[in-house]
Parts: sequence; C-alpha cells; structure tokens
Amino acid sequence: LWPLLLSFCMILLITGCIWVLWRIIIRQKKLETMKNDFISNITHELKTPVAILAATNEALLTFGGSKDPEKTERYLRLEQDELHKLQGLVDNIMALTRLEHEEEPQDALEPVVIPMLLKTVVARFSGLPGVQINTSMQVVQEELLTQPAALRTILSNLVDNAIKYTPSDVKQVDLTVTEHPQYYRFIVKDHGIGIDKAHQPYIFDKFYRVTQGNLHTVKGYGLGLSHVKSLLDKIGGTIKVDSYPGQGSTFTIELAKR
Ligand code: ADP
Repeated sequence: LWPLLLSFCMILLITGCIWVLWRIIIRQKKLETMKNDFISNITHELKTPVAILAATNEALLTFGGSKDPEKTERYLRLEQDELHKLQGLVDNIMALTRLEHEEEPQDALEPVVIPMLLKTVVARFSGLPGVQINTSMQVVQEELLTQPAALRTILSNLVDNAIKYTPSDVKQVDLTVTEHPQYYRFIVKDHGIGIDKAHQPYIFDKFYRVTQGNLHTVKGYGLGLSHVKSLLDKIGGTIKVDSYPGQGSTFTIELAKR
C-alpha cells in the first residue's frame, strides 16, 4: 500500500507544480500583451498631437502670424491644447518608468491642511463639463503629516477615474475625509459603471484594464491605480475598493497617522 500512496502523493505534487508554473506563464504572457498594448496605444496617441502641432506651425509660418491676430490666436490655442495632451502622455510614460524601476523620489514629510488639499484636488476637475465634486470632512486635527505631492496625486488619480468611468452627463463624485485614532480615511465614491467582482483583485496591477486588448472608449493605460498603490506603500497607506456594476465604485484609503 505504501508505494501506491507514495506514488499518488508524487503525482499530486508534480501536478501541483505544473499548475503553479502554468499560472505563472499565463500571468507573464498577459502582462506582456498589456505592455504591448500600452506601447501601441501610446504611440498611436502621440502621433495625432504631433501632426496637429506640425500643421498649425506650418500654417502660422506660411500666412505670417502678425497679419491676422484672430487666426493666430486660434492656432496658438490649438497648439496649447495639443501640448497639454503631449504633456499628459509624457507624464504617463514617466510614471511607467518610475514603476518599472521602483524609484519614486522620496519627498520629505510636510504638514498638509486637509481643507486646502481638498480644494486643490477639486480645482483640478471643477472646470470639466458636468462634473460635481461634493466634499465632506469630519476631522478634529485638520493638519496631517505626509508627502503632500504623493497624497495629491493619489486623490487626483482616483477622482480622475471616478469622472472617466461615469458616462452620464452629470458626473457626481463624493470626496470624504474622516479622522480615526490611528489613521485618516479618504473615500472617493462615484455613481459610474462600477467594476465586476471578478476584475476587482487585479485593477491595482500594472497595465490591467477591465476592457483590455484594444483601444478602449475610455482612454487609459492601466497605470493609474498601480501608481496609487505604490505611492500608498511609500506613505503608509492602504486602499480597497467596493464596487457594483452599474451602481458605481467606492475607493477607500486609510492613511496611517505619523
Ligand atoms: P486606466 O484608468 O488608465 O485604465 P487604472 O489603473 O486607473 O487605469 O484603472 C484600472 C482599471 O480599473 C480601469 O481600466 C477601469 O477598468 C477600472 N477602474 C478604475 N477606476 C474605476 C472607477 N472609478 N469605476 C469603474 N472602473 C474603474
């Protein structure tokens, strides 16, 4: 009986190893596809602003800007918009490089006044059509010690997603801060498309997008949340998501007090 039992255990062990290896290979392959998608999407998106900039510049040089100030201003505004787009793309590529090399610069800890922080984050998005950001705050100590730029980026990324993934005309986002004995809790809640349970464990992975594989109707590279996660690791925070398809998503951050 013993040899039989032993061979059975061996077979079980070998099958287990093969299964684990197989999962690793599949995961690597998936990451590779997502990376390739990222490169082809970003290359595609770089082309348009560069082409527009080249065309407007040539037009400005040809008709001689000073002769028609109105037209000149229109062209310059167009160029400014395209330059902003390029800046956004470059920021994304830089975020990727940082993620690849795990070399996020360490900022010093500084006091952040929560009402000011919320104001700054809201101001970035308040000009966008249909966007309504409601803030609420229940804190005793309004000043917290953290890396300010990192915390601003984290909240901005979450609000940006909340807006991006709310297709309705009115995009309502609730941004709440509460204070607890050991930590501050930040909640970003939207009423958008939501995320299926099956996808939720992966959305913080690099390049993971719920509709991946081709050009998404919502632009993105699947880097925002992984950047958020790595920043939170550095400043001592955690993040979790609660979401239901068709109802919206709630991202909750708990930032340890220093
Ligand atoms: P990106 O938005 O650039 O695709 P992220 O890393 O920020 O990348 O998000 C990963 C994926 O998680 C998104 O592609 C999207 O499918 C999903 N997601 C993130 N935030 C939300 C949200 N607020 N509502 C619905 N889906 C979301």
